[in-house]
Amino acid sequence: MAEKKPFVTLAQAKDIIADVPTPFHLYDEKGIRENARLMNQAFSWNKGFKEYFAVKATPNPYILKILQEEGCGVDCSSYTELLMSEACGFSGSDIMFSSNETPAEDMRKAYELGANINLDDLTHVDFLRQVAGIPETICCRYNPGGVFTLGNGIMDNPGDAKYGMTEEQMTEAYTRLMALGAKEFGIHAFLASNTVTDDYYPELAGQLFHLAVRLHEKTGAHIKFVNLSGGVGIAYKPDQRDNDILKIGDGVRRKFEEILVPAGMGDVAIYTELGRFMLAPYGALVTTAIHEKHIYKEYIGVDACAANLMRPAMYGAYHHITVLGKEDAPCDHQYDVVGGLCENNDKFAIDRMLPEIDKGDVLYIHDTGAHGFSMGYNYNGKLRSAEVLLREDGSHQLIRRAETPADYFATFDFSPFFQ
Ligand SMILES: *Cc1c(COP(=O)(O)O)cnc(C)c1O
Repeated sequence: MAEKKPFVTLAQAKDIIADVPTPFHLYDEKGIRENARLMNQAFSWNKGFKEYFAVKATPNPYILKILQEEGCGVDCSSYTELLMSEACGFSGSDIMFSSNETPAEDMRKAYELGANINLDDLTHVDFLRQVAGIPETICCRYNPGGVFTLGNGIMDNPGDAKYGMTEEQMTEAYTRLMALGAKEFGIHAFLASNTVTDDYYPELAGQLFHLAVRLHEKTGAHIKFVNLSGGVGIAYKPDQRDNDILKIGDGVRRKFEEILVPAGMGDVAIYTELGRFMLAPYGALVTTAIHEKHIYKEYIGVDACAANLMRPAMYGAYHHITVLGKEDAPCDHQYDVVGGLCENNDKFAIDRMLPEIDKGDVLYIHDTGAHGFSMGYNYNGKLRSAEVLLREDGSHQLIRRAETPADYFATFDFSPFFQ
């Protein structure tokens, strides 16, 4: 089994913990930057390429700034994500707004910022016109229906997904948007999540490039970009393979040259909206073992809980765990590693073989850099943790403080109870 290596040692972790108590999410600036550069390199063959980082994966302005410095834009889908992006200096075509069931206020904010708005439904053409206006550049989200297959396997089920429009609706939307003054068009689709294959993006790109040619022929619309959206995954498990982003970029280039270039559409820009691939491996949840328990199973209780990382409880997702300082010890103990919620699904690991864990040991829960902190919640009155950045020079920086009880009670500030 391949090894998964933490990006900090026990000594480094202890140094941070002296400053910021556990639990906290820790991010690796060096890893984030190197990966972002590889991403841009993979698509450097495409003149207009841009990665719009999916803000929902890791909504922290310090992280967004790092990605901005590496040439990324942002993909937002709510009012507050737009506000955070604005505060970081993103505007205009640096922003994709890929929302669904969007309130008028959010749509207006996206319009005011000049974002590339991605419409999720044909009826949203008139909604946008009424609440804000029709911008010159506009995108529509596509849903091909049926099942999405790769080779001989079913990857996902677009026919059951709430997102996007049929091809007929895309055609009608483009025609109507052109009549209302739109000049440049985008196509967007998100058909499979956390894919661990180099074939997903090329296959999706092939379908969207053919669609782009048909839409251009039918409506005369100028297609400015094809947005492959998110869905490129990572190897959460030690025995999984990593995606090869250079291969993926090359696979998309081949489809581009096969389909778009002969159609005279070689000026189409490729956009991506990756969240997980950009951040997940470069974040970890650092937590301390505070209890042990021996009943019908062996338990280790930690000071983090599902409120800090929901994926295992919500999807049964695997997150690898390293006991810092015991990297080379034999994994000869079987544990459930659990948090303190009054919910029996609050388990970071079930029947996991780990080195013997003592109270006070520091556990490093891997790959929490995306959809980790951000999915957190306050159940049982648990407070959100801090976020810490491990800088390239080895120093650390608090990039979000932990919540305090005052934060938890802040929404009662109108009432006499917590004055
Ligand atoms: C969630 C989301 C993404 C990012 O997905 P990942 O799986 O993190 O790559 C991109 N675009 C849209 C519209 C999304 O909703």
